[in-house]
Amino acid sequence: MKGEYSAVLVLLSLAVAVMASWSALDLARRVTSGDSAATRLWLVTGALVLGSGIWSMHFVGMLAFSLPIKLGYDVLTTVFSWFIAVLVSLLALFLATWQSANLRLVLGGSVMMGLGVSAMHYSGMAAMRITPAIQYDPLLFAASVLIAILASATALFIIFHLRGLRGSSLLWRKCVSALVMGFAITGMHYTGMAAARFDGASVCLAANDLDPGWLAVTVAMLAIGFMMVGIVAAIFDHRMEQRTNKLSSQLRVANGELMHAALHDALTDLPNRVSFDARLDAATRQARAHNGKVAVLYIDLDGFKPINDVLGHHVGDEVLRQVAQRLRTGLREDDFVARIGGDEFVLVSQGPMDRIAAGRLAQRIVDATALPIHVVEQDIHVSASVGVALFPDDGDETRVLVCADAAMYAAKHAGRNTWRLFSEDMTGTGNDILGMQRAIRRALDEDEFVLHYQPKVSALDGSLRGVEALIRWQDPQRGMVSPGEFIPVAERFGLINAIGFWTLRQACCQARDWQRAGQHIQVAVNLSAQQFRQPDLVERVRACIEEFGIDPALLALEITESVVMETSSSARRALDELKQMGVTLSIDDFGTGYSSLAYLCRLPARQLKIDRSFVVDMDAVAEARTVVEAVIRLAHSLRMEVVAEGVERAEQVALLRALGCDLIQGYYFSRPVLPAQIEALLASGQLPLLVERAVWTDAGRGRDDGVRRLIVAQA
Ligand code: C2E
Ligand code: CA
Ligand code: CA
Repeated sequence: MKGEYSAVLVLLSLAVAVMASWSALDLARRVTSGDSAATRLWLVTGALVLGSGIWSMHFVGMLAFSLPIKLGYDVLTTVFSWFIAVLVSLLALFLATWQSANLRLVLGGSVMMGLGVSAMHYSGMAAMRITPAIQYDPLLFAASVLIAILASATALFIIFHLRGLRGSSLLWRKCVSALVMGFAITGMHYTGMAAARFDGASVCLAANDLDPGWLAVTVAMLAIGFMMVGIVAAIFDHRMEQRTNKLSSQLRVANGELMHAALHDALTDLPNRVSFDARLDAATRQARAHNGKVAVLYIDLDGFKPINDVLGHHVGDEVLRQVAQRLRTGLREDDFVARIGGDEFVLVSQGPMDRIAAGRLAQRIVDATALPIHVVEQDIHVSASVGVALFPDDGDETRVLVCADAAMYAAKHAGRNTWRLFSEDMTGTGNDILGMQRAIRRALDEDEFVLHYQPKVSALDGSLRGVEALIRWQDPQRGMVSPGEFIPVAERFGLINAIGFWTLRQACCQARDWQRAGQHIQVAVNLSAQQFRQPDLVERVRACIEEFGIDPALLALEITESVVMETSSSARRALDELKQMGVTLSIDDFGTGYSSLAYLCRLPARQLKIDRSFVVDMDAVAEARTVVEAVIRLAHSLRMEVVAEGVERAEQVALLRALGCDLIQGYYFSRPVLPAQIEALLASGQLPLLVERAVWTDAGRGRDDGVRRLIVAQA
């Protein structure tokens, strides 16, 4: 008996096979990604979908075949064949979850899958229960099993191969692969069918069981359902892929931004300190390799801090932004500017470079910075001090920046708004910052610092109302160094805290000695900005007071006006705590920092020191006198005591008294002197000093500060 094939159904079976393959590839990809619970779920659903797919393909193929007798299918065997199909799919998908594929695995898996598919096919044939039994041509039978194994191997190979692919290349390969697999599966089926020999008197015992018509409907529904799953899965996959693509590109962007933020200054968008070091390193390395030079320009703005304090941070920020913009313009391709501190920038220039070119560049920067900066309807003036050093002439990669810094420092000293080329004398002796830095460290170890004390005298009756401790450095090489020289260096190099706390202890120790001798003299100590920002400032002051057992009222702390203005809430709290402790707070150098008195009145300070610059010409310049007068009135309305600093002449004393100033400090009464001289003064019984009678003898003139003797003229 010869069977016939319906061409339409054969094509349909091929289409179903291709779709099943497509889904298999899709599902295989999904089971490989994700966590274990999800993998298991995908594995089971995948096996059901794929198994049903292969099975429907098989049955569409069966239905395409007809014999001249009525055909039907045995229910149990049919279900069994479906079950085998699902099992085989489970095996295939399970193999697909393996992370690495070796030949053994693919071979073993393919054989098992191939046998499984063959079992499904031949049990499906058996479901027809044809008698006498179908005879199979051994060659074609073997060929069909072999094709099944090969088809499985191809499928597995493709599955492993497609792993990790994304986008359109994946889509193309998946299409081609599904076609190849679909043809392989159909090929196996029809070879298996061709192997079958039906006896002329064949009867189908299952003719009354599952009607081919019904089966056709079931299979068609399965095929459609299966196709839907495939489509949904494909859409889902596409969406997922789009989402992951979007996420990964977002991640890339975010990463880039993070990288940028880590290496750039948020305000000016210039490279920051971190990337500066790396870039300078690269530039010097390149210069070394090509025998070239690198110019390093250290740029520090003059007078920036008051802008920030008085006009507010938003104005300060805008000034920095505009300065950064000016520094950036006109740079050569290999040059760069970085912001390495609050108002400090460094410009690095490569290429043809010598001292003349570097100097020209520095002048250009000084000129560009000096142009007024327009911020919120006002013109703001800043200037720049620029230090220039050349690599490798002035210093190697580790030193060139320090040299530029030293040169900048020299530019500041030369009056600001200018530039200086580094020269060795900046590191030799004398005007030597690097050397001084080293010497300061040594001075701390070797106890080379001394405190001198300058009286603060009552303007009313000339009685001694306290002293200000002023540090001096007795350097074996340099001689007596004034704090104006070494304090700024110590501040730059982080040594000021050590010096400051040494002063604090020393002053408390002196107050104790005087207290023991029955003299209650208040000692004022200057606090530097950095010291003031130390979180343990209050504790250290308290410890000092306790260590020496002094009355806290004997200690006063002088903080400059500009430092007081920048007080954060934590610093504010420190001031309150110090006041609570009983320590007197004094605002130093008042008038130089543009503070608003309204702000000052909220501070727990008790004393205001009018800066020397106002006192100097108050007897000659009317404006200065007006300022002093206004400050005294306002301070009094805030219940603050006023100290006039730098009083040198009797006329000034008379004026200050007339204006109601409380305390007077200055050379007119005494230079800063050693404690013994303060004691001598007190012991002489000549206090209170009568203001009109206090004069300086010329005996010690020409000698240093501390050695001048205070002599009070007899009445
Ligand atoms: P300052 O706190 O304003 O100290 C007053 C300065 O004016 C002292 O200078 C003092 O010698 C000087 N002076 C006093 N009376 C007169 C006068 O009649 N005419 C003139 N022309 N000058 C007068 P000095 O001792 O050179 O100190 C300079 C600055 O160094 C101080 O200014 C203070 O800011 C700082 N300083 C001094 N000692 C210390 C310290 O122990 N710690 C800290 N952080 N800074 C200190
Ligand atoms: Ca002071
Ligand atoms: Ca002062």
